[in-house]
This record gives sequence, structure tokens and C-alpha cells, in this order.
Amino acid sequence: MFETTHALAGAALGSLAGGPVSAFAVGLASHAVLDAIPHWDYRTVPAAVVDVLVGAVAVGAAAAQAADPAPVIAGAVGAVLPDVEVALKALGRWPWRLFYPSHTGRLPHPAAPLPWGVLTQLAVAAAALLAL
Ligand SMILES: [Zn+2]
Repeated sequence: MFETTHALAGAALGSLAGGPVSAFAVGLASHAVLDAIPHWDYRTVPAAVVDVLVGAVAVGAAAAQAADPAPVIAGAVGAVLPDVEVALKALGRWPWRLFYPSHTGRLPHPAAPLPWGVLTQLAVAAAALLAL
């Protein structure tokens, strides 16, 4: 799933979590839930760079609007953190096996073709924006 989608969902959940530590934990757990939603993933570095930048700007804007930005940011960081291993593996900089359950096949990570695989993510992002 796109990092922007993960980040917005994590930010929204984090804003409801009550503090930065619980927000981080909820964001981390949300990654597996979102990965279980059928989605389409890009496979290029330029797309990843754009996605990460868009996600960072969106979370920054959400945090700037929040009464307490720490849980918003912590939730977003927890939500995107699992994909760091995927990015590093793709770049040949992760010498270990993938760890996060939805990346190892221990939890579902279904693909969906275009346009459905993007529409599912837009729905999640829209729900997160409404919750923020
Ligand atoms: Zn992932």
C-alpha cells in the first residue's frame, strides 16, 4: 500500500490513541490491517520518493492542525516504519529476511489491479482525512 495511505491512516488513528507511545503502537499495527486490503503497489524508486514526500507533507499539515501533534506524527511514523525494510531490501541494503508479518506471507497482502487497487487506497485515505 502507498506510504501516503499508511501515513494518513496512522496519523488518524494516532490522533485518537491518547498519547505518542500508544499512537506509535496503533500505527504499527495498522500497517498489517491496511496491507490486508486489496491494493496496487508501484515498484519504482521515483514513485516511492514522490509517495513519501506527499505522505510527509500530508502528515505535517495534519499535525499542524492538531491540538497535540505528537500522537499524529507518532502514529504516522509507526504506520510507515514496516515498509523501511521493504525499501532497503529493494535497494539491496537489508541483509536479513523481511520481518513484518504482512511482508513475509504470515498475514495477507493481496494485490488488486488498477484502478481498484488505487481506489481502495483513496477510500482509506479519505476516511483518514475525515477522521483527522
Ligand atoms: Zn508494507
